[in-house]
Amino acid sequence: MRTAEIRQRWLDYFAKHDHHIAPSVSLVSPDPSILFTVAGMVPFIPYILNTEPAPWPTVASVQKCIRTNDIDNVGRTTRHGTFFQMNGNFSFGDYFKEGAIDLAWGLLTSSLAEGGYGLDGDRLWMTIWEEDAVSYDYWTRVIGLPSDHIQKLPFKEISWSTGQPGPAGACCEIHYDRGPEYGPDGGPAADVQGDRFLEIWNLVFDEFVRGEGEGHDFELVGKLERTAIDTGAGLERIAYLLQGKANMYEIDEVYPVIRATEEIAGKKYGADAEDDVRMRVVADHVRSSLMLIGDGVRPGNDGRGYVLRRLIRRAVRSIRLLGVDDVVLPSLIATSKDAMKDSYPELEAEFSRILDVASAEEAAFRRTLASGTQIFDLAASKASGGNKVLSGKDAFALHDTYGFPIDLTLEMASEQGLKVDEGEFRRLMQEQKDRARADARAKKTGHVDSAVYNEILDESGGSTRFLGYSETGAEGKIV
Ligand code: ATP
Ligand code: MG
Ligand code: MG
Ligand code: MG
Repeated sequence: MRTAEIRQRWLDYFAKHDHHIAPSVSLVSPDPSILFTVAGMVPFIPYILNTEPAPWPTVASVQKCIRTNDIDNVGRTTRHGTFFQMNGNFSFGDYFKEGAIDLAWGLLTSSLAEGGYGLDGDRLWMTIWEEDAVSYDYWTRVIGLPSDHIQKLPFKEISWSTGQPGPAGACCEIHYDRGPEYGPDGGPAADVQGDRFLEIWNLVFDEFVRGEGEGHDFELVGKLERTAIDTGAGLERIAYLLQGKANMYEIDEVYPVIRATEEIAGKKYGADAEDDVRMRVVADHVRSSLMLIGDGVRPGNDGRGYVLRRLIRRAVRSIRLLGVDDVVLPSLIATSKDAMKDSYPELEAEFSRILDVASAEEAAFRRTLASGTQIFDLAASKASGGNKVLSGKDAFALHDTYGFPIDLTLEMASEQGLKVDEGEFRRLMQEQKDRARADARAKKTGHVDSAVYNEILDESGGSTRFLGYSETGAEGKIV
């Protein structure tokens, strides 16, 4: 079943169960405190928090998402994309735990002919909060799930809050057992890698008020006046199960770019583990770049633009590591667009603009690489003879003179088994910043917005971390 159809089935199922259907919002988050839309609930935050009246009691959507915190997982796990689509259903004071469980079980296990996903219920496992007797009871008594398919976790491992005093709740995470070839027995709670007991759907039950505290270190101080349900299921994860693929990069919406990369590089996917990771990174990052540019993001030195720049650069570098030096982004982006346009027809209309932005960025990066690679190689050969540390001075020169961002230097160094003296690099960056500040003061021009300038220095010199919203779940943070 094609991903576009799996997506449509989601929307049809929840429409049939009286949900309002909301379109995806932009990847540029409507909530100004976060850079990107990281989950399906983002456009509904005021209704979940009950700070604004919800226009409908229940709603469902398929939301485009970007998660930069998963960038290093891409291609290495079977299930993490920087771009992915989160299917969601939400209830603002309407149904609660029982209703959410019924809806989820119904969609996952009803047959394809009935409009469901036809998954084998015997392969489904739940992780729930150890004190959530309602869910436990419902799963075992009403749904009939065997009790050994329900694993109980402490609140801090299976809960959600905004990171601040306010609404909080336990989750129930639904996992699909892909079988012993993907890892040892023991259920999702014991599956550290997480690729055998694949997490497909997270049901968040908002019912508590939490107090002050950092991270998981807070107390529950009361009950919400009005509960909420917030769920998210990865469309690509369901797709790779239903399409019988080994990972999310091999589904119909992603794999065509791997195929095209194979052809361009003259290499076979499946022949070499490291090359396979590179091909999956290319396919993921090309798709993320396509979708980000489609939503109006332009490459730049900070914020969203920097994330896009980094994705494009990592795609180009992975292609180079596959042995290809030609300009390839335009054709790969076109392939990705063709794979995505059934679900996002607007990509077609926007395509010439998308192509212009991507091509210009690829060209600029190739110039950077051309001027800096020799210098990098020289520094690397010095370092590989001694203590295997590339000096902060060299990293700084690469940054300052050749426009090599530090993360590029770090990545290229680590490919050669080298470390980088980041402490010294940062000290030199700081010195340069201080000099710039002193210069600006000396000039007293009043025209130079040195604060902005310094921010850019900070951004381009440091690894960018985006905070502002965090979800504490079984696995920690969304950043
Ligand atoms: P994981 O533990 O696998 O990293 P998560 O617990 O971080 O997932 P949630 O924050 O619970 O994920 O998001 C809800 C659902 O969205 C997940 O159950 C999963 O199906 C999907 N999902 C989350 N992150 C990704 C990603 N990077 N790529 C594809 N799907 C994702
Ligand atoms: Mg989760
Ligand atoms: Mg998880
Ligand atoms: Mg995660």
